[in-house]
Amino acid sequence: MVGLKRLHALWQPSVQVVFWGGAAQLVGKDLAMSLTETAAADSEPIFSDAIKRLDDAFRYAEIDDEALLRLKHPQAVLQVSIPVRMDDGSLQIFDGYRVRHDDTRGPTKGGIRYHPDVTLDEVKALALWMTFKCAVVGLPYGGAKGGVVVNPKELSRLELERLSRGFIRQMADFIGPDRDIPAPDVYTNSMIMGWMMDEYSKIRRQHTPAVITGKPIPLGGSLGRDEATGRGAYYCIKQLEQRRGWRPEAIRVGIQGFGNVGQAVASLLHADGYRIVAVSDSRGGIYKEEGFDIPSLIHVKNQSRRLRAVYCEGSVCEAIEAETISNETLLELDVDLLVPAALGGQITAENAARIRAPVIVEVANGPTTSEADEMLRERDVLVVPDILGNAGGVTVSYFEWTQNRQGYYWPLEEVHRRLQGIMAREFDAVYDLMQRHDISMRTAAYVHALNRIGSAIEAQGTQRYFRDNLNAG
Ligand code: NAD
Repeated sequence: MVGLKRLHALWQPSVQVVFWGGAAQLVGKDLAMSLTETAAADSEPIFSDAIKRLDDAFRYAEIDDEALLRLKHPQAVLQVSIPVRMDDGSLQIFDGYRVRHDDTRGPTKGGIRYHPDVTLDEVKALALWMTFKCAVVGLPYGGAKGGVVVNPKELSRLELERLSRGFIRQMADFIGPDRDIPAPDVYTNSMIMGWMMDEYSKIRRQHTPAVITGKPIPLGGSLGRDEATGRGAYYCIKQLEQRRGWRPEAIRVGIQGFGNVGQAVASLLHADGYRIVAVSDSRGGIYKEEGFDIPSLIHVKNQSRRLRAVYCEGSVCEAIEAETISNETLLELDVDLLVPAALGGQITAENAARIRAPVIVEVANGPTTSEADEMLRERDVLVVPDILGNAGGVTVSYFEWTQNRQGYYWPLEEVHRRLQGIMAREFDAVYDLMQRHDISMRTAAYVHALNRIGSAIEAQGTQRYFRDNLNAG
């Protein structure tokens, strides 16, 4: 009989560690940059925290405990040092990581972030979350994540290009269209993805757009990728609307964060008649009981980079009366729907008791801490978790990869139609699981994902399978 320990040993990750010369030279920490998702970097054991959430969900999942054991270990970790010739002729070395968490359901997928606080522990946790995010919406992918320890704001464009190409040269054997497919994340963008795709294609000596997603449209990007995350959250809200019998005009919405995702959610909801009564950015927020004209706010924010209470007719904008509020106040407003779309760690044990919204749709990654989660659940606040609420982004990344591989590009309506289909189907499945087991929607999302990943792992054989076969033999 093959013991559990032995099976575990067989399945241990093949850890590959590559060093290029000496210690990395850290680029100074410019804390002036607004740090997205720094909660992750602050708390060291973030990977063990992520594992705890799996343990909670496992109680309701219909899978073998070996599957859980397997998921607690990232499959492969690559650490590299990237030498970059700087504009002044000096040489700097940057640390980079890529973690492939689990590829049972398909090639791994996940972004690459550039940030001075990137740590291996954080990248491991983010890779694990990607495994679950892909599984919750049924994409044929496992999860991965990458990061480079750098403050990109301190680099010139040319230095950034050399760094990005250098990272891909170190990663070339670790990634690939059938192996591991990166994408943009914090402080990386479509241009960087374009450089990375070009470098990979040069190494392979063949055009390989499917190696990376989030590319510029002329280089094989997908229509609709820009607003995909916000649109995915919007489709979740439309399912809630049906389930709860909402009349959009009666629903007051507060949105924290008015960047790419916050603006997309706001404008789609506004177009449907929802009352967006509060929005905020890093400088603070504005509140108006009757609701804002969202296209006007977007117009002015994108022109002046400032969030201002205005109403525009054509290009003529006038200031309107509104209350100035802090980001803390925004979270605690008496609204029907709260959408955190800025940073991680916003709803904590400290403010959870003061949150008055009965429904929260998480679009930022990790906006609610585990303690706050418990407190909200006790008060019957419905939280649509980030791994479902913001999965629209990775879903359209999957569409981009699919289009690259088939060499046939879809019109925008096709992208929207397919995204809507996936988000509505998976939202309903998670909602039903939540009701069936009387658990939080977050736990239900993990259970839904665990059932998919677990059944794929089981299909490769577990201890029970091998024991029964040996006994039979
Ligand atoms: P973005 O940089 O375009 O916008 C972030 C917004 O948050 C900006 O308006 C910024 O001013 C605001 N902000 C920063 N600090 C704030 C604070 N303390 N309080 C309130 N607002 C603050 O980023 P984005 O692409 O819109 O992403 C927003 C969130 O969604 C992030 O957590 C990101 O990780 C997550 N997310 C984004 C995508 C995507 O496809 N863009 C996918 C998955 C998850």
